Amino acid sequence: MSLTFLCVHAHPDDEASSTGGVLRVLADEGVRTVLVTCTNGEFGDAPDGTKPDAPGHDPDGVATVRERELDEAVSVLGVSRLVRLGYRDSGMKGWPQNDDPQAFWSIPLDEAAARVAALLEQERPQVVMTYNENGFYGHPDHVQAHRVTMRALEMVEFEPTVYFNAIPHSVMARMRERWAEEERRQAEAEGRAYEPDPEEEAIDLGTPDEAIGAAIDVRSALAAKRAALAAHASQIADSFWLRMSEEEFARAMATEWFVRARNPLGLDGTVTDLFAGYR
Ligand SMILES: [Zn+2]
Repeated sequence: MSLTFLCVHAHPDDEASSTGGVLRVLADEGVRTVLVTCTNGEFGDAPDGTKPDAPGHDPDGVATVRERELDEAVSVLGVSRLVRLGYRDSGMKGWPQNDDPQAFWSIPLDEAAARVAALLEQERPQVVMTYNENGFYGHPDHVQAHRVTMRALEMVEFEPTVYFNAIPHSVMARMRERWAEEERRQAEAEGRAYEPDPEEEAIDLGTPDEAIGAAIDVRSALAAKRAALAAHASQIADSFWLRMSEEEFARAMATEWFVRARNPLGLDGTVTDLFAGYR
């Protein structure tokens, strides 16, 4: 049976950070991989570091740069087909850009879902990946990517296995420690006292370890994942991940985790292959 994986991401660079490993691993295994990127990422940082809410930020210029970066990442990850839905970035939650009628957040759900459904019919993927209902961390475009994908799945006549990306609580706890340590070190270097941000402390993006439905070993794809992240230079030139040493990066990135959201094969527990049951 020919195998196809389809993932729906919000912005250029999300494919690299949350599925860079599995995309490369699956491509190496001969699985067809289809990447849907919903927005052009107009409200990312500009290549010179200008933030989206700062004067002089040129959204269309940013989109052009990110288009090229995505092409490069897709080539590094061996993606078989890239589909850009071409919607406008909605910006962070609460920004006025949310209400732009062209913003992905404002597009009628069924309109965008019909496009994804047509693609699903055409590609017939056995496995689909997107974000959970919180868009993993609440960004409107990520929430909308979830809604559009789930609505599209209702529009088609077949039922793929669906995964949402996730980070187990235990791993999240270690990452938080690591971040805090980094911030403490930075504060010390700048001669100020380190104070953890209580708001940030309160956000819990982790998933209970026992709820993880797939843990994929992507060690063989680490170089590609790192290169794909680096391809998105305008966004992550100063990235936490890319400042890590190679060993540290390998430790942090060696596994990609998912929660099973649709389970037509009745799989049990934590699988180590996204195509478990299909091959
Ligand atoms: Zn994103």
